[in-house]
Amino acid sequence: MTDATGPARRVGIDVGGTKAQGVALGADGTVIAKEQRPTPRGDGSLGQLIDTVAELAEALDVGDSLGVGVPGLVTRRGVLRAAPNLDGVADFDVAGELAERLGRRVVVDNDATCATLAEWQLGVGRGVQSMVLVTLGTGIGGGLVANGAVQHGVNGFAGEFGHMVVDPHGPRCPCGRRGCWERYASGSGLAMLAREAATGRRLHNVVRHAGGDAQAVRGEHVQAAAREGDPEALSVIDDFGRWVALGLANLTNALDPEMFVLGGGLAAGADLYLDPIVRWFGELLYQAELRPVPRVEFARWGPLAGAVGAALLPAEP
Ligand SMILES: [Zn+2]
Repeated sequence: MTDATGPARRVGIDVGGTKAQGVALGADGTVIAKEQRPTPRGDGSLGQLIDTVAELAEALDVGDSLGVGVPGLVTRRGVLRAAPNLDGVADFDVAGELAERLGRRVVVDNDATCATLAEWQLGVGRGVQSMVLVTLGTGIGGGLVANGAVQHGVNGFAGEFGHMVVDPHGPRCPCGRRGCWERYASGSGLAMLAREAATGRRLHNVVRHAGGDAQAVRGEHVQAAAREGDPEALSVIDDFGRWVALGLANLTNALDPEMFVLGGGLAAGADLYLDPIVRWFGELLYQAELRPVPRVEFARWGPLAGAVGAALLPAEP
């Protein structure tokens, strides 16, 4: 890379299910370099995963320390206990393996926790003392800032908000239970709500965007029809907004945060979702008239949030 190197340069890598993305941040927190590689899949991919991360770190001219974000349950020592989206990963010492390989200090944390750090320190949550980040993607991830510090929980597993049960009789979740929040309020939840609404020849415009097959409807088809002003699509988005708001209301009762930051893939449709979410949030919040309502904003960093936050990890206490 061509940019200035030095102690101010911070490098972070976000390992996702399909790609590993790395950034270098300059002293002022701007992204000065970016690199990405496909995430290795299949048998023997753990060793290749270490190779890929090491290669990215070197391409980004890593300094004394490296931050890495990974999807799944990460212990406070950087051991990945389980990662449903990475092949064959269980009890894998990511931090130890990489530190040995690179000869540098390596700090590993959950990808949503990294995104939380990015939005809190360099994004829409700058300056707040208490913030909850919720990533609305295929599932729901999350992270928490309280009393001016990122919270990990005793084991490092805090922030799995997607598996709060909101209907014990609801659809089955990959975690083994039924009716988890992420079955309704994620990208796949939006698609499920749309497929349910599309039965009986309803939701014609949305189904048209899905090539005429109601079972093929995904979140982006609902978005496309909603952008054309289709009232049925807008009604699905309103229903989706209510499910998102229900979880935010539950989290407010538990945590009383100053603000919510919504990130993940659905942030690309923020203009469609924000109004229904905020309106339902005001209705569903316990004692809304007696309390300040937490702000709700969409994230600044989009798909780079994990890598940017990973770059900030080594400086965290
Ligand atoms: Zn679940």
